[in-house]
Amino acid sequence: MSRVSIVKKRESFYATFVKAMEELGIQPVAPGDHVLIKPNLVQPAAPDSGQITNPKLLEAIGRYCLDAGAGRVVIGEGPSYYQPESCLRECFTRTGVSKIAKRLGIKWVLFDEHSYRSFRKVPGCIPEDFRVSEFAFDCDKFINVPVLKTHFLTKVTLAMKNLKGCLKREDKPMFHRRDLARAIVELNKMVAPSLNVIDCTAKTIGAIGSVDGEVHQSMGGSSFIIASSDIVAVDAIGSAVIGIDPKTVRTVSLGKEAGLGEDDLARLDVYGEELKHLRIKVELPQEQLRQGFPLLKITGAEKACSGCIISLLSALFQLQKQGARLEKPLVVWVGRYPRVPGNTEFLSIGNCACVEGEEGPSGVGGCPPDKKEIVKMLSIYMDKGEKGQI
Ligand code: SF4
Repeated sequence: MSRVSIVKKRESFYATFVKAMEELGIQPVAPGDHVLIKPNLVQPAAPDSGQITNPKLLEAIGRYCLDAGAGRVVIGEGPSYYQPESCLRECFTRTGVSKIAKRLGIKWVLFDEHSYRSFRKVPGCIPEDFRVSEFAFDCDKFINVPVLKTHFLTKVTLAMKNLKGCLKREDKPMFHRRDLARAIVELNKMVAPSLNVIDCTAKTIGAIGSVDGEVHQSMGGSSFIIASSDIVAVDAIGSAVIGIDPKTVRTVSLGKEAGLGEDDLARLDVYGEELKHLRIKVELPQEQLRQGFPLLKITGAEKACSGCIISLLSALFQLQKQGARLEKPLVVWVGRYPRVPGNTEFLSIGNCACVEGEEGPSGVGGCPPDKKEIVKMLSIYMDKGEKGQI
């Protein structure tokens, strides 16, 4: 049975991580090992925002690796498709990760400044061609450290999806074109972390689309980490703690089918905190939006990539926070091949929807489209709400 450890953070991050390893009964790093630590640093957000892996947890893991005698420790991340390429450096410098690396005497790397390994015409793989950072292979131990977040398409974004950060930026949209969950599983077959640690220590739970922290869902005072060598198991537990049945998370169930790990909670050896004491009720982004904009329908999203989805959700959450309301039904299309409804107001978002669509729909182009432009366009269809100016 796969073993998973859930450890509440009662002491330092270092002590919390050490306890998790003791409960797993493993020594994840051996003397001389080359170690890659892969966080989620999607944007230069506040350390405890829930949007990024807390740099203090990265420091604890880096220190642990050095104490275990690692020969080389690297913290590495690739650029988000939503953010400008130049943003990746700031994800290290403005969050304090670069200072932590300097203090520990370890390296931090931007994957896009180094080489990638090409996968071409992989049989049965979606997509067939993509590139993965060599750092994911050039290490003895790969420690994957995502942060607990919800996601519009995949429900959660945890350990399995965090590996998308190893892809070349330009290849990321292809992962969304056909079946994102299946593509993530294919990537997980190529890149296999030796240890996965989900950071659940923020005060709020991050959501893809809540880029500037527009929506806050409380962790209810809970602060803990979930660790396992089994990437499917750690995601199953991560989903369960926020009230999502792991069987309904396609990356998890497809991961089990592919033999990557165990998704059945009853077949996991869970050490540390009891799951039932940690369950936190969380609403998915679409549930939150439904409350603010019951007249809004988002379509095409299953084939769109994060560049469009994050821009759109972020714009909507900002408007929701400002109290804006839709005056009449509106269909918003993201992704390719838009179908324009005959009798409802329609807005297309992103180049795929605007350029390849039927003639004439109003929209916001760009790849990815600009959030401010989306806010401006959506504002045309909305009243100002109780809180005044949009
Ligand atoms: S327009 Fe949107 S869906 Fe199309 S490739 Fe760009 S970010 Fe992806």
